[in-house]
Amino acid sequence: MQTLYLQGASKNPLFSSAFMRQAIISDIHSNLEALVAVIERIDALEVNSIVCLGDIVGYNAQPNECVDMIRERGIPSVMGNHDARAGGLEEPDNFNPIAKRAVLWTRSRLSHENLRFLCGLPRMVRVQDRFAAVHGAIDDTDTYILGRCEIERNFKLLEGSGFLLCFFGHTHLSSVYSSDGMNLDMHTSGCVEIRQGLSYLINPGAVGQPRDGDPRASFLVYDSGKKLITFERVEYDIESASRNVIEAGLPKELASRLFIGR
Ligand code: ZN
Repeated sequence: MQTLYLQGASKNPLFSSAFMRQAIISDIHSNLEALVAVIERIDALEVNSIVCLGDIVGYNAQPNECVDMIRERGIPSVMGNHDARAGGLEEPDNFNPIAKRAVLWTRSRLSHENLRFLCGLPRMVRVQDRFAAVHGAIDDTDTYILGRCEIERNFKLLEGSGFLLCFFGHTHLSSVYSSDGMNLDMHTSGCVEIRQGLSYLINPGAVGQPRDGDPRASFLVYDSGKKLITFERVEYDIESASRNVIEAGLPKELASRLFIGR
């Protein structure tokens, strides 16, 4: 598996603070309005840095703008299943017809630079020895960490990786699973304390296409000093994002689902 290791260079702001606050974002899906609103909130929260769990593109109408923003901000990102298909590394044969149409449209619109960028993303990002970041399951970008069987399988993989904490995306549902059996679906904003000796699989929810019935963009902040995960929700201009989907000629279902968060 291609992995990006982020080690502590002293000048890198990612590693400069003893009490690090890290924003985790995922599943932006070409929704620039949502991404801009989330980045604004993150800047106001004074985090040290941001990590992205993939699916920068797919579904919505502004793929280049979203990839540009991730690149310009130097945000480390893993590769999502939509990124792999839009980049042309894989074909969307197992996608539903709507997702497939959107991913092929995205591939046709992406600049060469951005196509290359997506194809070069790693499948896992490791931030020092503090946490790992993946898109889907720990060993497979396309597999959803959902249901007891898959959660337990991923805890076994996590044990073997030497990490106690792994952030994942792909389900578009914010959730916290811990090795003592805690299984929390975070439908609203809220905090979860990271307890000593336990391991955790945590999903920040989706920036660009939430699916838990709350249409606001979702992300989280991990404070490794206070051992605290805080889930955040941000309002954004859904009307503008959905109008862009329609005007781009993308399936209208992709525009309407943004209003209901499904
Ligand atoms: Zn996704």
